[in-house]
Amino acid sequence: DGFSAEEIQSLQTLADVCAVVLSNIHDFQAMQEKNRLAALGAMAAGLAHEIRNPLAGVQGAAQYLQNEDVSDDAQEMLDIIVDEAHRLNIVVSQFLDYARPFELNLTPDHINALVGKGLTLVKAQGLPQGITVKEDLSGDLPSLFLDGARLSQVLINLLLNALQAMPDGGTLSVQTRRRVARHGNDMAEIVIADTGVGISRENLEKLFIPFFTTKEQGTGLGLAISQRIVQSHGGEIEAESLHGRGATFIVRLPIPEEDEQQENLDESI
Ligand code: ADP
Ligand code: MG
Repeated sequence: DGFSAEEIQSLQTLADVCAVVLSNIHDFQAMQEKNRLAALGAMAAGLAHEIRNPLAGVQGAAQYLQNEDVSDDAQEMLDIIVDEAHRLNIVVSQFLDYARPFELNLTPDHINALVGKGLTLVKAQGLPQGITVKEDLSGDLPSLFLDGARLSQVLINLLLNALQAMPDGGTLSVQTRRRVARHGNDMAEIVIADTGVGISRENLEKLFIPFFTTKEQGTGLGLAISQRIVQSHGGEIEAESLHGRGATFIVRLPIPEEDEQQENLDESI
């Protein structure tokens, strides 16, 4: 015999209750996972901090010995200690940068000026052979309230990544533009494109995960930190790439409505 209408009704009720219980379990597990990750993050930051002082000691001691009269073999070993300690120090510092809560120091600044400064800094370090730089800066962008120092850090990360992706030369294009929104805020966009090695579809999904790197000397923290900085400005970073045909990174920052913007500027005067 089939089920009666009442039986079907009570099965339905039972299924509903099961669904609620399962969903509660899922929420609970998600919460536990979140707490675990938060605790792990705090512990990792503590650990990174603890590594710093002894590391400085190791580096200092090795540097002292470098100036002593030691055999060539020992000198070579000392060079390795100093170099690797330096590298570890960079990873630890960048990790602390990523893990620490930070407050934005907002002042009126112009995106074109930040881009100009970033390019100047990168050029000052010496562009590799065979790199052409193209700039196309929009005249249609207002000054925005930004943390200029941190956004410069983002731009430099993106510019260096682009250069590192073009070991055999290529074109680095930097563009700023205004994206007019039908709903919500217009966006100021900074587009940094290269004609380098590109990013595989698989790696595109991992770019912003801390410590993801394909470079022997990479820390894998540049994009993770950059994303955090941009998001804390209410913006976003997007990456596009066709493998083997270069990569494009777009930073989007919201442009406040005129009145809001004017009010903020008035307040800052
Ligand atoms: P790192 O530069 O230390 O490796 P990042 O977070 O800056 O760390 O970048 C993570 C990874 O993303 C890089 O190792 C590289 O594989 C990839 N990547 C980032 N920018 C580009 C780019 N412009 N072209 C190709 N790959 C890139
Ligand atoms: Mg990088």
